[in-house]
Amino acid sequence: KVKSLSDLPGVGQSILNKLVEAGYSTLESVAVASPQDLSVAAGIPQTTAQRIIKEARDALDIRFKTALEVKKERMNTKKITTSSQALDGLLGGGIETRTMTEFFGEFGSGKTQLCHQLSVNVQLPPEKGGLNGKAVYIDTEGTFRWERIEAMSKSVGLDPDTAMNNIYYMRAINSDHQMAIVEDLQELIVKDPAIKLVIVDSVTSHFRAEYPGRENLAVRQQKMNKHLHQLVRLAEMYDLATIITNQVMARPDMFYGDPTVAVGGHTLYHVPGIRIQIKKSRGNKRIARVVDAPHLPEGEVVFAITEEGVRD
Ligand code: ADP
Ligand code: MG
Repeated sequence: KVKSLSDLPGVGQSILNKLVEAGYSTLESVAVASPQDLSVAAGIPQTTAQRIIKEARDALDIRFKTALEVKKERMNTKKITTSSQALDGLLGGGIETRTMTEFFGEFGSGKTQLCHQLSVNVQLPPEKGGLNGKAVYIDTEGTFRWERIEAMSKSVGLDPDTAMNNIYYMRAINSDHQMAIVEDLQELIVKDPAIKLVIVDSVTSHFRAEYPGRENLAVRQQKMNKHLHQLVRLAEMYDLATIITNQVMARPDMFYGDPTVAVGGHTLYHVPGIRIQIKKSRGNKRIARVVDAPHLPEGEVVFAITEEGVRD
């Protein structure tokens, strides 16, 4: 199966180098290029460019499908339990594969705890709400704690050391590093197909710190978009779940619409996926709300964060 540019028939090392140099480093970027642009940028004949584009589109399955095919694809998505029945109910069973799920909310709302819980739960057998899978945890804020994995895995009946061994962890130092990790992830996923969950916690913090203010908005969004679409593609290509977190400030002065959308214009609502807003409530209680998901009913649920992890 074609997984990257170099797998395309007729793309040898020299054409590959030219493409990458010209900024076409992924199947996606080639698939949506025009033959003229690709031909000029990579210095290859237009007919060759045309053929490569066609092959990239085939590899990515970019074509008309019937609604029935779409249905069958959707029926194949699998779910990972959050360990809260209420939250699972809100999500139609749990976090979906082939989908990017965003947890957004203010500091301390529980985004990181949910990420820990899901990187444990993906390892559960299907009858307990998992996928017998492994997780990749990309940590940009240094808030990953093995102690939480240990506690959460014990309480769902997994051996803690085995559970920790099934989580690939990497600290992303800056936004370029973060993007590079995701770009290279395909290699690891091909090597270890048990990987069923990829987490970036938080997806936005480096970008915000490095590209502050209005004047940097365009370049920040451009980079973010590329990064997010790569995460979406990973989910679709390898039938895995991707989770991103995004810290947003609550705006008590805003009464209408989504109270967090407007803050700094940072939110990711233009990227495909499911967005879940988490709000603090009394004590260890949290409120979760699905925001503009095309196939999920609107509503709110309450869950809790305990010593054992996410619970009802
Ligand atoms: P966010 O990532 O949204 O900023 P976190 O996921 O880090 O927030 O959530 C932090 C909260 O999780 C803490 O304020 C606390 O309520 C809860 N929490 C963290 N660790 C534990 C624990 N060991 N036992 C119980 N609750 C915990
Ligand atoms: Mg966090």
